[in-house]
Amino acid sequence: MTSILRIALDVPLDRLFDYADGGFAASVGQRVLVPFSNKQVIGLVIARAAGTDVPAAKLKAIIQVFDDAAPISATTLKLLKFCADYYQYPLGQALLGILPAKLRSSEAAHLPTLTAYIMSKQAREAGIEVIPKRAAVKRKIFAALNCVEFLDSQALSTIAATWRPAVKAMLKEGCVLSTQVKRAPTVPDAFQPSAAPALNTDQQAALQAVLEEAEQFKVWVLNGITGSGKTEVYMHLLQALLTKPHTQALVLVPEINLTPQLEARFRARFPHLPMVMLHSQMNDTERLQGWLRAQQGDARIVIGTRLSVFTPMPNLAVIVVDEEHDASYKQQDGMRYSARDVAVMRGKMANVPVLLGSATPALETWYNAKLKRYGLLEIKQRAVSGAVLPEIRLVNVQQLPPEQALSPTLLTAMQTRLDRGEQSLLFINRRGYSPVLLCHVCAWVASCKRCSSRLVVHLREKRLRCHHCGHEQFPPKQCPQCGNADLRPAGHGTQRLEETLNQHFPDARILRVDRDSMRKKGAVAEMSRQVNAQVVDILVGTQMLAKGHDFPHLTLVGVVDTDSALFSPDFRAAEKLFAQLMQVAGRAGRADKAGEVLIQTAFPDHTLFQALQTHDYTAFAESVLQERQMAGFPPYCFEALLRAEAQKYELVAKFLAKAISAAHKISHALTVYDPVRARMERLKNMERAQVLVQSDSRQKLQAFLLDWVTRIRALPEANKVRWSVDVDPQEF
Ligand code: ADP
Ligand code: ZN
Ligand code: ZN
Repeated sequence: MTSILRIALDVPLDRLFDYADGGFAASVGQRVLVPFSNKQVIGLVIARAAGTDVPAAKLKAIIQVFDDAAPISATTLKLLKFCADYYQYPLGQALLGILPAKLRSSEAAHLPTLTAYIMSKQAREAGIEVIPKRAAVKRKIFAALNCVEFLDSQALSTIAATWRPAVKAMLKEGCVLSTQVKRAPTVPDAFQPSAAPALNTDQQAALQAVLEEAEQFKVWVLNGITGSGKTEVYMHLLQALLTKPHTQALVLVPEINLTPQLEARFRARFPHLPMVMLHSQMNDTERLQGWLRAQQGDARIVIGTRLSVFTPMPNLAVIVVDEEHDASYKQQDGMRYSARDVAVMRGKMANVPVLLGSATPALETWYNAKLKRYGLLEIKQRAVSGAVLPEIRLVNVQQLPPEQALSPTLLTAMQTRLDRGEQSLLFINRRGYSPVLLCHVCAWVASCKRCSSRLVVHLREKRLRCHHCGHEQFPPKQCPQCGNADLRPAGHGTQRLEETLNQHFPDARILRVDRDSMRKKGAVAEMSRQVNAQVVDILVGTQMLAKGHDFPHLTLVGVVDTDSALFSPDFRAAEKLFAQLMQVAGRAGRADKAGEVLIQTAFPDHTLFQALQTHDYTAFAESVLQERQMAGFPPYCFEALLRAEAQKYELVAKFLAKAISAAHKISHALTVYDPVRARMERLKNMERAQVLVQSDSRQKLQAFLLDWVTRIRALPEANKVRWSVDVDPQEF
């Protein structure tokens, strides 16, 4: 009798597919190739079954089983099953979506083999003393091989440029053996761990608290201002937990925070532990290798962005989520998961501690700490002795002409820094030259044909660009509405601010840092090097500059324009702005020189600034929580959003109306709101709208969604629009 395999496929249908095993010994978690509507696609075996409802004549057999990588473990399958259910997303798409691209292709992943060198048994027994003192390179290689399993040419070249003759001789002497491996070895920067500073009282207390309950699941919130030494606490924690053989640690960082500095710090501290990085700038082969090393239990530390929360790690001992409030943890298409929330669920399943670090925890997180569901750990002062919190001053720009971006106060402060040989940073959250191209005669503005957004002027490239859909065009020679030939850019972006600064400070060395100027691989590392080498006087940039960097000579931060965020319709805008300003303020005065932050605003009396000036996150969080409670917003309720888009708004409206009637047939006490247009009404030629659902209980919301989504799938209108469900939405 043929055996049946239940297989998950990467198709938008919420079900598994039955296939005959075709005589293959395919086991659960293995990738298989199957016929699927005239194609051959990759699937993942979820279960073996004795029978099937598929008639024998229709039952197809699998074509091939891949054994180039280990099967996906039951633990990973369980986590993805949970996520697919929670985020209302088809299991097959969820599962295949987390695999590295090479494991999703219909060919076996050819893992390149590398030549590597290992130490022979005799050499290990004889010890380093048999190598003469003058053979310095040989001794270095020997010492390195003592700390790691093996070294390849890349690793060896970091030890000595002249490693080749040395290794050749060592091979001959039988001291070293060559072998083929399928993965890259650790590339240690140094084989001596960097010295760990002794922790201060707050840090020590935080570490101790986590270590005391490290054998089980518990979520901890580590709240400490930037520079208070949170990263140092993470590293001490890993140091303690990874002394146990084979244990692994997962460290999640926001997309933008993946600075070379962070990687270098971890590598320097843990040169003896294999570590892999997983982020979007890696190519498919690198990603696959990192993933496999984690899955094989070989990588002891995995540092990665959002998607790496799903990396299989058989001996997981701890999860750290750095800057846990960061928006980049939320996936905004496909399965719309929050990597932070998945990390907590994963910690629970694996029964390991989860540490959420932030200077400004998300209000949801803060609320959980308040309710004592999470343990709260606080670090109250900056770690480096002498480093004090920067003074935050507000500069009232009510009287400043709109086209003048920089107030005299800010300019004077920058001049003072230039005179003293210190660095300044100007923060403006808009790239490009100016956000609008305007006709002063008839008030026409250049807007995107495909989106309800304005086109941003990129003067250097002589283009207008839509930052939402990527549309690009030449600026018109004259106003398309009235013929006026004098169209002017209005407002400031990074490029224009750079130009203004060049006029004010012609001798200063100015560096612009935004997504446009940092496009090249390695650009951020180079920028960071230049700033530390003090070949830059003024940095001007977007939030890319706000996080993760540690610039000891930077003593002034100027915030150019924040006011639009103060009055945003988004109820999370204040929370986001506060976090961002705390972050960027944290760049000033990291070392022994005092820092100063000047914030230009027309609303200096706004309550947000009062809390910011005293660096009082708690006060801010408490006041916003009160507002949320009164308004009935999260974390005091649970939300889901049904989003829909189509080229014709009619179709969207019809679909949402049907979806709402379907919702009314379900008897769950929760609120289903009327459809509203998305904040970006039109995007890439699609008309967009959405329906918000709120409930006072997560369980009720989940039960409702399960039922609702099934009904929505059955609607004929559902095939005429693009729709998705966003559970715990962050953007509207
Ligand atoms: P955060 O992650 O909170 O921004 P870091 O861990 O990066 O803070 O620490 C900021 C700076 O202080 C770093 O240069 C770090 O090496 C240093 N530092 C952290 N803890 C200590 C300590 N206990 N003693 C001395 N220096 C420390
Ligand atoms: Zn005009
Ligand atoms: Zn557009």
